[in-house]
Parts: sequence; C-alpha cells; structure tokens
Amino acid sequence: MNKSITALAMAATIMAASCSKQAPAESAGDFDYTADRFADIEVLRYKVPDFDSLSLNQKILVYYLQEAALWGRDILWDQNYKDNLAIRDLLERIYASYDGDRESADFKAFETYLKQVWFANGIHHHYSNDKFVPAFSRAFLEERIAALPEAPAGASELVEVIFNPEIAPKKVNQAEGADLITTSAVNMYGPGVTQKEVEDYFAALKDPKDATPVSYGLNTRIVKDENGKIKEIPYKLGGLYGEAIAPIVENLRKAVPYAENDAQKAIIESLIDFYTSGDLKTFDEYSIKWAEDTASQVDFINGFIESYNDPLGMTGSWESIVNFKNIPASHRTEVLSANAQWFEDNSPVDSRFKKEKVKGVSAKVITAAILAGDAYPATPIGINLPNANWIRAAHGSKSVTLENITQAYDEAAHGNGFNEEFVIDEETSKLLDDYLFITDNLHTDLHECLGHGSGKLLPGVDPDALKAHGSTLEETRADLFALYYLADPKLIEIGLLDNPDAYKAEYYKYILNGMMTQLMRIEPGKDVEEAHMRNRKLIAEWAYEHGKDANVIEMVKRDGKTFIKINDYEALRGLFGQLLAEIQRIRSTGDYAAGRDLVEKYAVKVDPELHKEVLDRYARLDIAPYKGFVNPSYELVKDKDGNITDVKVNYGEEYTAQMQRYSKDYHPLKK
Ligand code: ZN
Repeated sequence: MNKSITALAMAATIMAASCSKQAPAESAGDFDYTADRFADIEVLRYKVPDFDSLSLNQKILVYYLQEAALWGRDILWDQNYKDNLAIRDLLERIYASYDGDRESADFKAFETYLKQVWFANGIHHHYSNDKFVPAFSRAFLEERIAALPEAPAGASELVEVIFNPEIAPKKVNQAEGADLITTSAVNMYGPGVTQKEVEDYFAALKDPKDATPVSYGLNTRIVKDENGKIKEIPYKLGGLYGEAIAPIVENLRKAVPYAENDAQKAIIESLIDFYTSGDLKTFDEYSIKWAEDTASQVDFINGFIESYNDPLGMTGSWESIVNFKNIPASHRTEVLSANAQWFEDNSPVDSRFKKEKVKGVSAKVITAAILAGDAYPATPIGINLPNANWIRAAHGSKSVTLENITQAYDEAAHGNGFNEEFVIDEETSKLLDDYLFITDNLHTDLHECLGHGSGKLLPGVDPDALKAHGSTLEETRADLFALYYLADPKLIEIGLLDNPDAYKAEYYKYILNGMMTQLMRIEPGKDVEEAHMRNRKLIAEWAYEHGKDANVIEMVKRDGKTFIKINDYEALRGLFGQLLAEIQRIRSTGDYAAGRDLVEKYAVKVDPELHKEVLDRYARLDIAPYKGFVNPSYELVKDKDGNITDVKVNYGEEYTAQMQRYSKDYHPLKK
C-alpha cells in the first residue's frame, strides 16, 4: 500500500507537469538530465542538491546506507522471476563480448531488450507485468551463445524461457477466477504451491482477535516440503538470500557509528536484528522506531516493503531509498502552517463559514540520495510508510515528497517540445521557465497544508451532503484556496516568493491544463471522470465563462491551433476568489443541487473538436510513457592516513555503464 503514485499516474503527472515549465537549455546548466531513451522508456538523471551542506558524519552515514542499498539489487531480480539473474548474466556476457556489427538490426534489438530487462529488474515489464517479446531472432541468440568461450549451463532452457510465449507470460496475475499463484511468474512461491493451500495455511496461522498482527509472509518464500506440506523459508542472514543480506548488514553496521542520534542508531540496530533473525515481531519494533523518528535529517528505508509484486499481497519486494530532509523546502510547509489562522481569517469566504481555530498540516520534503531495488530505476515521487495499519494508528506514519525527483522530471520535460507546442508566446514561456517550479510546489503546499483544512460546515449539515460530487468539489475548494492565495502579497511578506508576478506562471499553466492539455489523458468520445481532472476543468471553464465580458481569458486560434491567452491576471484572481466563496457556501450549507449543477455544467463534457486537436498535437511530440533514473555514485575521500575526509557525489554515469557496474560490483547471488 501507500506508494503515493503508480507508474501510470506518474507518467500522467509528468505530462501535466510538463505543460508547466519551459527552460532554455542553458538554464539547466551543464547538467544533462537525460541519460537514455529506448522502447517506451526515458531514463533521467537527478541531482542531490545540498549534499555538501550535510556534516561529514551525515555524508558518511549516507555513504554506507547507499552501499547497503545497492547490495540488495539481486534479491529483487530473483524475487521477480527465478531465471532473471541467470538471464541477466547471459545477456550481459553476450553484450560485452559481441564482436560483430553493433549497428546490425539483430544487435540493436538485442541491446534494446537488455535495456528493457535492466529497467524492469527482470524479463517482465515493470508496469504491465507482461513478458518482453524480443525483436531479435532466436537464431541470433543461439549463435551468440555458441560463440561464447564457454557456454553457460542451462543456456538452452533460458533461450526457451525468453522466446516461448507459454512460459511465465505474466509476472503478477490479478485476473479474477484464476489461481493467482500458479499463473504468476514471481518467485515468491515454490513449484506446485496453489493459492488455496497458501490461503488455508495463513488462515490457520492468523488470530482474528490479535490487535497487533505481524505482517504475515512479508519476508518468506512459500514452498512445499518433502511431505507436500506448506512451509515458509525466511529471507535472512544464513537463510534464503543470506549471501545478499550479509553485505547489506555489513554496511548497516558500518553506518551505525555515524548515526545522528541514539534513536537513529537504535533504528539501524533493529533492522540488523531483523535481517539476522527474520522475526516479524522485530520488524514491527523496527517500524515503530522508524515511524517515531522525526528528528533525524538523514533517513532511509531498506528491506521487504511493498507487496504489489505478490499476487496475494503479502511478501514484500526488496527496496531501498536513502534520503535526507530538504530543510528549506520543508520550511515552506512549516511557515504556511504557522500562519494558518491568518489565511483562514483573510479568505474571501463568508465569515459564517470560517473556522475560529484552524491548524495547518506540515509534511516533510526530502532529497533522495540513492534509489535501489524495487524503487530503481522507476521510482515513486511520494512515500507513506509504514504499511501496518495498527502501527500507523498507534505510532504515526511518515509522508514524504521526493522533491529532487520531481525537479528532475520537471527539468527533463523542457526539451520535449510540449511548451513550444502549447504555450502561446515567448514571454509566457519565460514566465513559466522562471516561476512555475516554485509556484507549482507552493500551490501543492497551500492545497495540502491549508486548503483542505480551511472552512467549516454549519451546525447540522451532513458532511456527505454533496454525495457523488463531494470529492470533486472538495478538490475544487482546496485548489481555489491555493490559487487565490498564490497571488497574495502575504506570500512575499513571509518569504515564500520573491516576485509579485510569480503567481502568473501557475495561473497560466492551470488554465491551459484545465481547459486543454489534460484532455490528452481522456480517450476520444469519453467524459472527464476523475475528481482532480473534473475540479481543474470546473475552475478553468467557470473562470473562462465568467470572465468573458471583460475578456479575462481568451482562446486564440493560430494556424488552426488553439492557444490560451490570459489578458487580465488580477481579474482572474478575483474570479478565483468569487468561485471559492461559492464553493465554500455550497459545502458549508450542503447545497447539493448547486454543487451538482456546477459539476455538470463545467467539469464533465468535453468539446470533441478541441479534444481531437489536443490528442493530435500531443501524439506528434513522442513523449516516453515511462520514466526512471540512473543514480549518482558516491566516493569516499581519504587522507594519507586513511581517514575519511569527505564524500564526493558523481553524476555523469550512463545508463548502460551503471547497470554493468552494478552487475559486476554488487552481485552477491551469482550462481
Ligand atoms: Zn486534495
């Protein structure tokens, strides 16, 4: 549970974000955000800003934690499918030793396939779960195997696995009615184990009255013993994956002396205990300590965490992310929360609907230092852990945004042609270039920290009075609160913006997205369904119509293409304030009919002609649907006596080189 954004939603977010900001090449400095492009994938680089602001101890802590992260890679490959590691070894040997024409069609297709396998941590697509279909011939592969100095054992079986569509067609099967274990390729269950047997086994194990249950099956492979009885083999030191867990533990031990405080030291030691014993009670103790530590700046996850790759949703895929708190960005949400009452008191809504006492929410913004296992190369932009519900309720959870990752997406979108295609003129592009990233982040902060929490219901009003339109109208309200205040001088006064015109960047993007570019996510002929998309359309279309007499927003036609032009930003702010007051009235009084009318009139129906135009223009841009990252690399700097004096971050590594290096230097499960 809880990775806040799935790959597809991610791709969609990126599309939305990419209408955000256009920067000339030089604004990115000499940092090259694009690392590779193949099949349906774009691989990016990310920066680790402010790494140098960490203390030497913190840097060394990050260093050993990222080593512990990299050592787990093989575990995930083996969890994903039993032959993944053997196939990777085979493909990499052929790739490195190939002495034929590297421009030939077969070799090019082979290279693409290898890059896909690297990206997916195995032979199944990371998002669709379907087995990749090679575009090179079987004869080519067999010939290359024969040309190897010594043919690896079992090579012909691996060729069969790669080419036979009947073998392991799907990594995780979720289709209703099938035996989800026998039809899924993942290696979390041994041969002959059926879904029913596993369900019966756990049903017998679980006590329904247990208020603090462990996460059953989280760290085990389930097999049949010699008598055909179900048993669990734990992943632990000296157990399954012990050869990979040993160097993870070794690096965790090296990290301990550099912990920032005793609480963090205890967290790392608990994790080592868990890897040593495999005991799930210890995992819960670790999770509780981790959830309660909000004081440390450096933080990390390392272990068997998310269970999406198990068709029964129990076993965790191995992953690690090492990160540190982005103090200036987290400061934004803290400042907003500290001023929450001022924003409530000064909002344009009727005073009857305002809260006398309002409390803001602050969330942590982090900088990722390494992505590993199931979080690499494709990665979430938000994380919310731990997963155990009783721990969340009793001990809290951490919700974080990986801002250097969202920034990399944003920067990388510059060259994709989106803004050249959809933004009306140079001046507006420049505005987006300069201010969209910060105003977009601030919009999210205002929406999350203040928007949802503002306002109150009149006594006796049913909170569910708006029924099916409730979530659309709630998102509309939070967005309007954010839009209205983005243009307020208060943000300059409290130091969150430095230019009174900055807000115009977000306003332009918001209207462009709400009226036009978000339509690229809708199939031809369909209505807008999703609550956030409806809310954006509602706001943009309402403002367009109510500003028509004063020509606030204009739809300009040029060479058969439609562009958004905003003529009066101040008036647009006034319209946002007016609509906020009305939506708050609807919510506070439970005026279902008025809410429904707004949604039906502005949020649902799509102009088919404009829709087709947007889809056509978007299709010509050729933007990769899936994205992921190469990591920076870290290097210890030592003086002549061998003392560590610094940790250096290096960025230039190419995708193929990084994958080859990881396979060479972090390959504990070599057969
Ligand atoms: Zn929201």
